Amino acid sequence: MKEVLFCLILALSSITYFVGISGLGKWSRKSIIDRLYFMSLMLSAGWGLFIGLVLVQTDEDLAALFRAIGMVHIFGLLICFTNMIVYWSDIRGRVKRWTAGFVWLGVLLYPFFVRRENVEFSMTAYGMSYRITPGVWSVVYVIYCAVSAVNMMVLIIHMLRRRIRKREKDIAYAMMLCVFIVGFGCALDAMLQMLGLAALPVSTLAQFAAQVVLCKIYVFYNGSRVTLENMSKFVYYSVDEPVFVFDEAEKLCIVNNGATIFLGLSAEECCKLQLSDIFVLDRDVFRFRGNKNRVEARCWQKNNICSITIDKIYDNYMDIVGYIVIVHDVTERVRMLERLEREKQRADKANEAKGAFFANMSHEIRTPINAVMGMNEMILRECSDPGILEYAGNIQNASKTLLVLINDILDFSKIESGMMEVVEEEYSLRDMLTALKTECSMRAEEKGLKLTFAVPADTPNVLVGDEVRVRQVLLNILTNAIKYTMKGSVTMTVTHEKATPQTERFSFAVADTGIGIKEENIDRLFGKFDRVDEEQVHAIEGTGLGLSIVEKLLKLMKGTVTVESVYGEGSVFTVCLCQKVVGTETVGAMHDDPKKNEKRKKGVPSFAAPDAKILAVDDNKVNLTVIRGLLRKNKVQITCASSGRECLECVAKEQYDIILLDHMMPSMDGIETLEEMKKMPDNKSKNAKIIVLTANAMAGVREMYLEKGFDDYLSKPIDGALLEQLLMKYLPPECIIQTVE
Ligand code: ADP
Repeated sequence: MKEVLFCLILALSSITYFVGISGLGKWSRKSIIDRLYFMSLMLSAGWGLFIGLVLVQTDEDLAALFRAIGMVHIFGLLICFTNMIVYWSDIRGRVKRWTAGFVWLGVLLYPFFVRRENVEFSMTAYGMSYRITPGVWSVVYVIYCAVSAVNMMVLIIHMLRRRIRKREKDIAYAMMLCVFIVGFGCALDAMLQMLGLAALPVSTLAQFAAQVVLCKIYVFYNGSRVTLENMSKFVYYSVDEPVFVFDEAEKLCIVNNGATIFLGLSAEECCKLQLSDIFVLDRDVFRFRGNKNRVEARCWQKNNICSITIDKIYDNYMDIVGYIVIVHDVTERVRMLERLEREKQRADKANEAKGAFFANMSHEIRTPINAVMGMNEMILRECSDPGILEYAGNIQNASKTLLVLINDILDFSKIESGMMEVVEEEYSLRDMLTALKTECSMRAEEKGLKLTFAVPADTPNVLVGDEVRVRQVLLNILTNAIKYTMKGSVTMTVTHEKATPQTERFSFAVADTGIGIKEENIDRLFGKFDRVDEEQVHAIEGTGLGLSIVEKLLKLMKGTVTVESVYGEGSVFTVCLCQKVVGTETVGAMHDDPKKNEKRKKGVPSFAAPDAKILAVDDNKVNLTVIRGLLRKNKVQITCASSGRECLECVAKEQYDIILLDHMMPSMDGIETLEEMKKMPDNKSKNAKIIVLTANAMAGVREMYLEKGFDDYLSKPIDGALLEQLLMKYLPPECIIQTVE
């Protein structure tokens, strides 16, 4: 009989060990309750095994040893059980410490319960049996067991009262059953012994039964916990995106609500479909390398554009058991992107149209001004009647003002539409400042103002930046200073300091002794079309655009402009700008060439070149007359062509030194003519310098023309002096036979 009993207990222990060990494998990822549960399984198995071993012993000492080991498991299990109930009952603080701590009292009592003299062994029909020798320790033992049981019961009742959720109450009832089963087993053990009957190891068997109940509790508790395993079902059904699950034979077997709504079919109807029945797709879309595949496809039914993600599902042997297909309807997004692309193209076109409009406007306005200024220049050069010269002088001033105005408006529009670009190149600061001084000194002289440029000789000369824009900014400020100063002086002071190892921070301070600006008006200075102090400045020509352009250009070049002014006394405009420095060359001593101004004023030619052959191409007859007139005194040989075709014919016949080529011409424009010329095999003027002569004077066009292959650029209205300078630069030196001093 004892062998049967032992085998039964051994089998139950083995099963319990197996379940416990397999659970302990995942120990690290488990919660406290998981750990307690798996520990209780191990302890329960140990209890069964060692108390079972006592049964089959004949030697009392050995039986006592096994009993002592078994008792370790019994006390351990008691601790585990109590802690599980403490955890579920959610008691905290002192009560938790006392109740959970009480069972640990068993550790103190344990040595007395296992002392050899405190235990009596006897052989019964069911094997070796034992009991604690009646006396103090047997009473302590009973009290400890009873108090532990009551402790657990109180906790469970507390849980029943506090926990309101049904599943928690169910856990509490099941725990109560566990305690009852074990308690019943222990009581039966004690009663059988008291009645003098052969002691069956009832408590040992009962605790296995309690483990079965505990297992059910644990499974139930885990089932209602938020874990990846049990929540995935909810996630699957709750996502709005259509989710399709295909089996390994690529047959659709599960669909979520999102999928049925997407297809407008019931789940059963959906499951009759293949993926390629739903989307325009290859049949072998499931054959792909790796775990994930993403494809774009159109849905047959609704013509929706979808992004489809296919994930492989593997079993434990890494064999594919199915596919999860998640569908993202991207129709709206794609349509929006298409809409945006269309809008962008429309905006680009509008911008292009705007650019073309500016270029056109520039051309259309400048062409007649060119005629006016050119003809007027000839009057100034050729007429000696002082009255007519005075009228012509007035025309010259008015047209120059008109030109500045047009330039400002066009530049401003270009900046506003974001089409202004900064083109950085090497330039000479000395040349730029000299040119500025030359340009301004005439105006200053006319007003009787003293114009001074204070530039330290050690200022670096070769800089990298947008010379045209820097010049434009400084010219604007200098012109304003001269414009708004009635008497006294205008002084430009240049200073510099190191900004980075390669760049210098330049400060160009323009101080005048003019009308000054009221403090409250300083903030308004850079506003567009804003002229401050109207009553003072209304007699002075201006649009209120200049400073606004200055500020915007400086912003593009990462520079700043600041103003200090005393009303009635004068102002200082300071431009700060960083420029890269090349080499170590310095500006040196600055001196201007007053004779040059004289020459400009009187229109005296600086050279004559009777052998030089120049071809002027322009569809506008007046422009050709202007060019002829401007170069008359230089005695150059000028041929005129009024179209691109005529130009090509001319270069096929004659070798020219310079070709002045207009850009905007009907049928074949200047750029096309240039390209044709370059391709011509019989071009006799292959070496001629080609200067584009254009009324398109928009900011940035110079670079564009040079890029297209022109050698230089001259804007209309043609400045006679600049034209002469260009001819001097490009004519072969042997042609220039006379330089007039
Ligand atoms: P404009 O000179 O064409 O009116 P700006 O934008 O160049 O336009 O200047 C705006 C205003 O700032 C001018 O109308 C003038 O009132 C004031 N201003 C500019 N420079 C000076 C200066 N050096 N001294 C006094 N006032 C100035």
